Amino acid sequence: MKVEGARAVVVGMARSGVAAVELLLEQGARVTAVDQSAMANPKLVELGVPVHPQESPAFEGADLVVLSPGVPADLEVLQSVRGRGIPVVGDLELASWFLKGEVIGITGSNGKTTTTAMTGHILQASGIPVQVGGNIGTPPASMVRTSRAGQWNVLELSSFQLETISTFRPHIGAALNVTPDHLDRHYTFEKYAAAKARLFENQRPEDFAVLNADDPVTKGYAEQTASKSLFFSSTRKVEPGACRITALWILGGVTKKLDVIELDGQPLMASEEVPLRGVHNLENTMAASIMAKLAGATHEQIRTAVMSFPGVEHRLEFVRELSGVAWYNDSKATNVDATLKALAAFPGGLWVILGGKDKNSDYRPLAAAMKEKTRGVLLIGAAADKIENHLHGEISTVKCGTLEAAVLHAHASAHSGDTVLLAPACASFDQFENFEHRGREFKRLVNQLGKK
Ligand code: ADP
Repeated sequence: MKVEGARAVVVGMARSGVAAVELLLEQGARVTAVDQSAMANPKLVELGVPVHPQESPAFEGADLVVLSPGVPADLEVLQSVRGRGIPVVGDLELASWFLKGEVIGITGSNGKTTTTAMTGHILQASGIPVQVGGNIGTPPASMVRTSRAGQWNVLELSSFQLETISTFRPHIGAALNVTPDHLDRHYTFEKYAAAKARLFENQRPEDFAVLNADDPVTKGYAEQTASKSLFFSSTRKVEPGACRITALWILGGVTKKLDVIELDGQPLMASEEVPLRGVHNLENTMAASIMAKLAGATHEQIRTAVMSFPGVEHRLEFVRELSGVAWYNDSKATNVDATLKALAAFPGGLWVILGGKDKNSDYRPLAAAMKEKTRGVLLIGAAADKIENHLHGEISTVKCGTLEAAVLHAHASAHSGDTVLLAPACASFDQFENFEHRGREFKRLVNQLGKK
């Protein structure tokens, strides 16, 4: 669609929305903004863009409506806009009309940020031009200015960004896994899975879909795309693609039989050379390796870059060791599956801090792993009663109320060799601004322990 001269309305004035406003202005559109809140945004004031209440009159005369990812696509006020034949698209779709260079799009219920950051890190370390953004850091609309031909745009994409595309087409798309999350916005698991599948709907035979072969939903995406599917698996052999095998590998000058990641039939690196814990991070590494290779990195470049990947804050992040007890911050474990993966990343001896704001989740799948791996479960926040109920009879839990009380309780109870893990399986908004705030607070409390 022709944006120059068009009357565009952007809905939702958080960071992505403001970025969309700026891009539309640069492209010569006449822009107005809509937001639920009447709070003045200094950037919009500076740009001279008026903000209207989120009601019908704001959309009169519009040629194009652009939604921020935070805005539900099924808002009632948008139905009549669509009824009039006016395109309603998300910020990703808008950005894709102007982005130069190739696109790698990464989605999944868990692991998007880690895999996006790792893919960007491998390309950068391999001397391949790249910029990273999307749901992580820079909004897609803000990446347009710095994009250029021959450069890769590595984008972390949420289901909310994907459900509002129409022509967006990544040269490489990856779906890591699809497990229940965000059902408050997508209503059913099927709708949520279908939103993620849209990543592949405009791909052509010369494009690639990188899919988790162990996940029934992402595996099924292969049937829904015209692109070439490449699989990764942590449980069985796949070729081409990436998988785990047992192979001879030289580590520290000694040849040993080890768990090894294989890429396109060739051993790539020993699993223990990946600096992140847990099988789920091997899966992220496999997906990132396939994509980096498609973008031109060699096996040796990939291995070296993965080994120097620093990890991402609040994702199974090692905080410190105190009196033989290791402390880990996985504040980003905001759903049950991420917490299960965190539990699987440790052999046992765990004190787990669980709870926060419930997202209508079923916590019963945690019971077996908790029973096997934990010495104690410390509950915090609004969901404590529900979690206790769901785990009832399987394991004993201690209601601590606050994060501070849970940290102190763990410190008093854990013995040398144990691990204390914040992996709450819940959102943070009952007691914190967001998961980053919760993670920072945890680290602050943990770093204070032992000080007079
Ligand atoms: P996202 O951006 O999709 O939320 P993150 O990389 O931020 O993904 O990780 C979110 C949470 O899920 C963290 O607790 C992390 O330890 C966990 N996690 C990371 N990768 C995976 C994966 N492949 N499968 C399941 N859980 C994962």
